[in-house]
Amino acid sequence: MRRRTFIQSMGGGALAALATSATAANAAASPSARSTKRYLRPPGALAEEEFLSRCIHCGQCGEACPNRCIKYFGAENGAAAIDTPYIEPREKACILCMKCGDVCPTGAIRPIPREAGAILEHVHMGKAKVDENLCLSFQGKSCGVCYWACPLPDVAITVGYMEQPHVTDACVGCGLCERSCIQMPQAIRVMPNRDAT
Ligand code: SF4
Ligand code: SF4
Repeated sequence: MRRRTFIQSMGGGALAALATSATAANAAASPSARSTKRYLRPPGALAEEEFLSRCIHCGQCGEACPNRCIKYFGAENGAAAIDTPYIEPREKACILCMKCGDVCPTGAIRPIPREAGAILEHVHMGKAKVDENLCLSFQGKSCGVCYWACPLPDVAITVGYMEQPHVTDACVGCGLCERSCIQMPQAIRVMPNRDAT
């Protein structure tokens, strides 16, 4: 499916899933014990502290993810994060199918309709940032691969002269641009938003 038709093709609803749960391990989290790994939470995840208090480590989000982009922490990110889901976009980015939020039994990942307006309003995984010193288009070699990879072209990302990419505040942080960047290391990276609500 061409990316430009993605917005129009979105449709369908989402399920409501509510519950509350907390674990002693979560309460024992120590920020100093966390790694410096750059990672994203799945789309619709609550702000970090509340997310950690609600996630019961059931793994249903990863099971539901058709893209298999959800991974689970071991002990490297602190006790509270063990077995919680995360995404490393350079390895595999989120395709915004919204299936993980549909199955989360506690609301740690909220259900969000797979519809452009809802995604733009409620998905705040992070925001992509272009390193102009690495980006080929800013180095005189017209590229634009990140623009074509974005499910929200001309909304979340635009291109100008020589296909130079410009990320807007509408970026939801799915990471498909970072995943697709042909430069090594990648010239566009998603900076996580841990305060997503
Ligand atoms: S929205 Fe879809 S692709 Fe993205 S993490 Fe959730 S299940 Fe996986
Ligand atoms: S992270 Fe990249 S691909 Fe995803 S919405 Fe933002 S600019 Fe588009």
